[in-house]
Parts: sequence; C-alpha cells; structure tokens
Amino acid sequence: MRIDIMTLFPDAIDAMMGQSIMGRAQDRGYIKIVAHQIRDYTTNKQMQVDDYPYGGGRGAVMQADPLYRCWEHICQEAGHRVHTVYMSPCGRVFDQQVAKELKANYDHLILVCGHYEGVDQRVLDEIVDEELSIGDYVLTGGELAAMVAIDCIARFIPGVLGSSESAETESFSDGLLEYPQYTRPAEFRGMKVPEVLLNGNHALIERWRRDRAIELTLSRRPELMERVELNKKDIAFIQSIKKDEKAR
Ligand code: SAM
Repeated sequence: MRIDIMTLFPDAIDAMMGQSIMGRAQDRGYIKIVAHQIRDYTTNKQMQVDDYPYGGGRGAVMQADPLYRCWEHICQEAGHRVHTVYMSPCGRVFDQQVAKELKANYDHLILVCGHYEGVDQRVLDEIVDEELSIGDYVLTGGELAAMVAIDCIARFIPGVLGSSESAETESFSDGLLEYPQYTRPAEFRGMKVPEVLLNGNHALIERWRRDRAIELTLSRRPELMERVELNKKDIAFIQSIKKDEKAR
C-alpha cells in the first residue's frame, strides 16, 4: 500500500513514521509513506501558502493553488486519480472499521493535512473524496490525525505486525475492549497475576479473557455492546454481573 501525505511539516511525518513497527513495515516494503511539502508547489517568492479569510474573521486560510498543484503532481506520478482524504474535524469519525474499509478498498491514498483556520473550500471540492475526523476536538494541524489514521490502517496490512502481534485479537476487533494484560514478574508490589493465567489451561484462559473484556466494555463503553455477537456463555456471564449488581 502507498500513502502520500500533503503537509507543511513533512519532517514531522518522516520522523514519526520511520520509527518502530511503521519504520520496519516501510523498510520491508509492506507500506510506502511519502510526505510532500505543500510549500514546494507555491509560485510566489515567499513560498506563502495561506492568506486572510474572505469575509473577515480570525486567522489564515490555506490557499487552493499550492494544494491543487501538489495533489495534481501526486496523481500524475501515480498515473490516475488517487482516493483523497482531507483530515478534518468536520469529517466522518475515523475508527477501526473505517481503517479496515480503507485498507480493503484502496492500495493508494492521499491524505491532506490542513493548518490555520483550514483550507479554501474550492480545492477541497475539487480534490477530496472524503473527510475524516479522529475525534470531536480541534487540533492545530492535520499531521497527527493523518499519522493516527496511517498507523491504524497499516496494522491491517498482512506482514506489518509480526506473527506474535495481531490486529484481530485487540480492542474493537470483536466489538469488545481488550482484556487486561500481564507480564513477568508474577508478583509486583504485592499484586499477583490472576491465577488462571498461570495454570496453562487455554480454554479457561480464553473464557477468563472474554469475561474481562465483556466486563470492561460494559463498564466503560456500554454502547459498544449493541454490536457484539454474544454466545450462550457470554449471556450467562452478563446475567451473573447484573444479578450481582442488583444484590449490592
Ligand atoms: N477551523 C476549523 C474548524 O473549526 O473546523 C479547524 C481548523 S484546525 C485548527 C487546522 C487543521 O487541523 C484542519 O484543517 C484539519 O486538517 C486538522 N484537524 C483539526 N482537528 C482535527 C480532527 N479532529 N481530525 C482530523 N483533522 C483535524
């Protein structure tokens, strides 16, 4: 998969995306991430990319032309129009399902990072296929949002995670938050690892993990439970929790 990022801060993207699992994934050719400096596509001496907003108001707005020229260059190199996403607080909220969809539907994406008060609407109308938000808050720029999206999408590319790591067993993969994890030592400041995890009985361990995941999801994100496929044992466990709650 290839992801091109249109940004005013390509160094920030390269520094972060060159580390750890993402860096390894790029070295091994599972994903290619290319950050483009929007300023390189300006035609003025000052390499200015923003101007005051028509109609008045605070701040500056990113101009259409450098963004369009940058986008056009990427598409020309690709030889086709590339699915283009504007990272924006006004977009559809990005989640694990959206990441899976993007991975399944596209092998090449362009992510556009805005700054200041945002981007001239005319270039968005021309180049953007969808807008994605990483949550109901406003960041100073789209770079962090783009990197969040890339990191999450990349986890679904076969080979990016080692065989010991899997996106399929983590939070949200089955609709539930993940169960608690423990590693050595077996005792830390008087706190012991739950006995069941030490006994090697895989069926019991699986059940314990599933119950903890249900418990955590019910207490922290109950709205997620609506989409979880529950089996008989899950239902019995939920009923036992509710019984205990009533008894208290
Ligand atoms: N004036 C805009 C508004 O009120 O919606 C906010 C602009 S914000 C300061 C600058 C840039 O940060 C945006 O153009 C967008 O690319 C990015 N950004 C901010 N919050 C975001 C979020 N929650 N998700 C994705 N991108 C975001």
